[in-house]
Amino acid sequence: MFGIVPKALWARRAPPDERNRIPLALRCLLIEHDAGLVLIDTGIGNKENTKFIDIYGVENKGANGRTQLEDALAALGHRPEDIRRVINTHLHFDHAGGNLSREGLSFPSAQYIVQRRELHFARHTNERTAGSYLAPNFEGIPFQLIDGETEILPGIRGLPTPGHVPYHQSILIQSAGETACFVADLVPTSAHLPLPWIMGYDLEPLVTLETRRRIYQRAEAEGWLLVFEHDPHVVSGRLAREEKGFGLVEQRVLG
Ligand SMILES: [Zn+2]
Repeated sequence: MFGIVPKALWARRAPPDERNRIPLALRCLLIEHDAGLVLIDTGIGNKENTKFIDIYGVENKGANGRTQLEDALAALGHRPEDIRRVINTHLHFDHAGGNLSREGLSFPSAQYIVQRRELHFARHTNERTAGSYLAPNFEGIPFQLIDGETEILPGIRGLPTPGHVPYHQSILIQSAGETACFVADLVPTSAHLPLPWIMGYDLEPLVTLETRRRIYQRAEAEGWLLVFEHDPHVVSGRLAREEKGFGLVEQRVLG
């Protein structure tokens, strides 16, 4: 998860277990929009086999065979069919794994949305990319395809943030004079804020670096609230310039 960063450094921020795994969240973002509920990413789902669950240490069991995502929606009083739109930042299994269950579409009334070239990229894998793009997560979905920066709904924008994969997008949300950005795998956890703390999973790490430089500048200047998809503790925060690079202020931390 930390690429070239020596373990002696990252292990202080994210202590690993005996199998060298670290805790990661699979945080999806629910937006209450005038046009209906919008869900950003769908987590890892629950249709993979026990070997997969063991390798990644997946904990996603909800009540009655549901996922924890469905439980969290139920806790807010929403059924899966209440979701009107699902937007995927990209189609890796830990972001699109909950798009479908073994029974079919997890959100049967939703329009699913993804970048056109990301879907093409997912369908044309090679030895390096195939392990993350599992066809059951995206084949059979009648996607609405978008091209580059796109206003998906008033106040919700797909913002290309390439590097992790070439057509990765972050989601920019503007409401009541405030801006939030669901950065997805551009900055998976708050520990990844330093520019060179780039995942080994990233296909184009030097592109990630330049995307971060560009996004950080805007995020700091415009006071964006950054939402972290994989951080087990820090949900969100705002960038503040420090002596070296950027730090995080106004952090929202899980209890
Ligand atoms: Zn991810």
